[in-house]
Amino acid sequence: MQKQSKGSLTLVGAGPGDPELITLKGLKAIISADVILYDALINPKLLDHNSFAKKIYVGKRRGYICKTQAEINSLIINYALNGLRVIRLKGGDPLVFARAYEELEAANLYDIPVRIIPGITSYTGIAAQHQIPLTKRGKQESFWVVTGHTQSGKISKDLIWAAKSSATVIVLMGVRNLSRIVEVFRRYKAGKFPVAIVQNGTTEAERTLVTDLDHIVKNAIALKFDSPATLIFGPAIIDRVTKFKNQVALNIVTQ
Ligand code: SAH
Repeated sequence: MQKQSKGSLTLVGAGPGDPELITLKGLKAIISADVILYDALINPKLLDHNSFAKKIYVGKRRGYICKTQAEINSLIINYALNGLRVIRLKGGDPLVFARAYEELEAANLYDIPVRIIPGITSYTGIAAQHQIPLTKRGKQESFWVVTGHTQSGKISKDLIWAAKSSATVIVLMGVRNLSRIVEVFRRYKAGKFPVAIVQNGTTEAERTLVTDLDHIVKNAIALKFDSPATLIFGPAIIDRVTKFKNQVALNIVTQ
């Protein structure tokens, strides 16, 4: 670790999973870091780009928290005040459901310089990989991105608005609440309304299921879909159902 006169915090988006889907700026930040605090969703291959930095896992998986947010903030502050370049490596984009703002505010309290390097967020990475148009000229005019797991444990009110809308709806952190989320959509949409679930998107371990509201819960349970997974609701995925029909790799179930 190389000590500098002034430390800093750089929040880096690691991209959706494929280790090549990080920005050049993000990669350069990793290479020149003294300390890397990394989350569960980042591809560990990214850490191989720097053999000198101190690397600390601060992730949360399956509800198990190895460091609280307050502990992570203290690590950032202590290392940065000691003159080190600290990187917070986060899955996807740092400003999408990733608590980056809390880390930024903690660093601001100590006048630690902060930089944010954006990342390709999981859902745009997944959509691009599967050639799913999140918007389509004349057909889908918008898309919504909603959490499937709010702090209070209740379904987000925004999910209800999203399910009522004609937008493509993406739900992150929703796999554990799948049946409750599907229930909301069933109030407003027909049983044939298309749904896709993508687990470990853009990685070698990716699994995808394309189906409809009537079949998603049963099939996702039978095929043991688990987090990290992204749900996509809406006709934007229909083209893919047609195109990939009968391809085992995509586990397509439509009936
Ligand atoms: N900052 C991240 C999101 C963090 S919330 C981003 O921009 O993507 C974590 C949720 O993101 C997961 O529960 C899952 O819904 C989604 N996610 C992240 N990586 C994923 C991946 N490789 N495949 C599928 N979903 C993913």
